[in-house]
Amino acid sequence: MDVESAGFRIEAASVQFASTLALSAVDLTVAPGEALGLVGPSGSGKSTLLRLLNGTLRPTEGRVLVGGQDLAALSRRALQRRRSRIGFIHQDLSLVPNLRVSQNVLAGRLGRMGFLASVRAMLFPGRKQVARAHGLLERVGIAEKLFERTDSLSGGQQQRVAIARALFQEPSALLADEPVSSVDPARAKDTVELLTRISREERLTLCMSIHNLELARTYFPRLVGLRGGRVVFDKPSSEIGESEFHALYDLEPDELLADGA
Ligand code: ADP
Ligand code: MG
Repeated sequence: MDVESAGFRIEAASVQFASTLALSAVDLTVAPGEALGLVGPSGSGKSTLLRLLNGTLRPTEGRVLVGGQDLAALSRRALQRRRSRIGFIHQDLSLVPNLRVSQNVLAGRLGRMGFLASVRAMLFPGRKQVARAHGLLERVGIAEKLFERTDSLSGGQQQRVAIARALFQEPSALLADEPVSSVDPARAKDTVELLTRISREERLTLCMSIHNLELARTYFPRLVGLRGGRVVFDKPSSEIGESEFHALYDLEPDELLADGA
């Protein structure tokens, strides 16, 4: 790919939503090309952190740098350009169900086009674009689904479409927010394996929140544990013991946020 992988840096960032302190003085550095797993109970701030990284959310305090650039210092246009190079795979995948697979993949580039140009590109894609989409679907193992309706695919296949769409935009980094929480364990493993392998091969920075601790430990060399909006550990996954993991998940979100709210 023609885009250098981008690193991330969060400096003393806090995010306040009304009375909820979703993130509290978080510091985090992710090197270009690194793969980072984000773990923590529901409500611990994982999605908020990922939204900071792709610039859809600004910190109430602190800074977020992508590729060395402070997102707050960018013009709207520059921020949009930056964001168009960050692939985001949502928990619900955000695919349009009644479109063909090819059209969903082609939608990956829309962030960099004007509205009309993007509608045209999606409805009347050039042969080259379709060939690219096909190549990416081949890469994720579902090339034969190119012209199928997206909602006719299984959950695992739809995850692959979402991955292909993110790759279509030639990202410098991939963010994934619990992309495997809605499929069975075998499918989840396949998808995490695929995402981490492609990121490695393309030298893309990858940050993924993931609930399955075994998968997190197997596929991510480094794990960050969040609890109540704070980083409670940030270390090689091989150094994180079972008890540390359980402590992370055992507490109730309400208890955890007590000192933050
Ligand atoms: P996670 O992804 O780990 O489940 P989130 O980042 O979604 O956690 O949420 C962290 C905290 O911030 C939660 O208490 C959640 O209710 C709160 N929160 C998240 N988004 C909003 C929002 N848009 N408005 C108000 N509170 C929010
Ligand atoms: Mg979340």
